[in-house]
Amino acid sequence: MSKTVNLKSFKSLIELFEAFPDEQSAIDHLRALRWKNGAFCPYCGGTRIMHFSDKRTHKCSDCRQRFSIKVGTIFEDTKLPLRKWFAAIWLITAHKKGIASTQLATDLSITQKSAWFVLHRLRYAARTKSFARPLAGEVEADSTFVGGNPRNKPLSKRAQLAKSGAKTEKIVVHGVMQRAAEGEVSQARAFTLPNASGPAIQANVRANVEPGSTLYTDAWRSYRKLKAEYVHKWVDHGVSYVDGTIHTNGIEGFWSLFKRQYHGTHHWISRKHMDAYLNEMCYRWNRRDMGAGERVNDFLGNVEGRLTYKALIA
Ligand SMILES: [Zn+2]
Repeated sequence: MSKTVNLKSFKSLIELFEAFPDEQSAIDHLRALRWKNGAFCPYCGGTRIMHFSDKRTHKCSDCRQRFSIKVGTIFEDTKLPLRKWFAAIWLITAHKKGIASTQLATDLSITQKSAWFVLHRLRYAARTKSFARPLAGEVEADSTFVGGNPRNKPLSKRAQLAKSGAKTEKIVVHGVMQRAAEGEVSQARAFTLPNASGPAIQANVRANVEPGSTLYTDAWRSYRKLKAEYVHKWVDHGVSYVDGTIHTNGIEGFWSLFKRQYHGTHHWISRKHMDAYLNEMCYRWNRRDMGAGERVNDFLGNVEGRLTYKALIA
């Protein structure tokens, strides 16, 4: 029913706004992407859908519910025009180090509170879905510590921390990276761990890397327990950083980019939200061979599911 606008030639935010001159064109675009395999009801999954002449309302012939194309997506209940959401998606996916909510608020003329919520909904959409296939082939694994310097925290957070008596907190982050096959880019996944213990690290590898893969790590002893399940090759960083193909340079490049985002864009991230920022970074990293416009459309294909404000601040 509605045409998909070809975003592939997008090179700027200006061109995105030209492609979507009004709200209806943005709605049509989302609908064309979301219903590319046919219309469906977000409530019961039924496919007998009636379309109203306002071009925004639909009704399910099975469960009789009325809905807009935003129902069941991260855009459900939003008061912001979709055009602003599209611009936010362009900004968060095009900027290598992400974007701060204060910056997004200024760029889109919205409040900082709604910019903060927009970015968190986008990070939610960017998460690695539970049905994603495990990484395989040649995979690097490594952990790092993020954060910890209270001087980088906002004053309000510092006061809060002082009151709670909490000590400076370093957050353990573990990542796995599938090395690039010919014509592809490497694929990364990263998660916070409760601690840097062997069982926590081993569980994270098992959950994300196919058994039988070649695992490249540093000399950290926790990885050696995985030798029955993986072809384990490790390099002792006390001796050298690269031994032929045995190194962890790929995942270390990812850490350094993430830390540049952390310090350069956000200054401080709480433990509670760290995984959301890691999702965002992985999303961009894993699609860095796409053009900015292509990435916007890819992102719009990932907007199923809701994240409510209540759930976010809980
Ligand atoms: Zn229905």
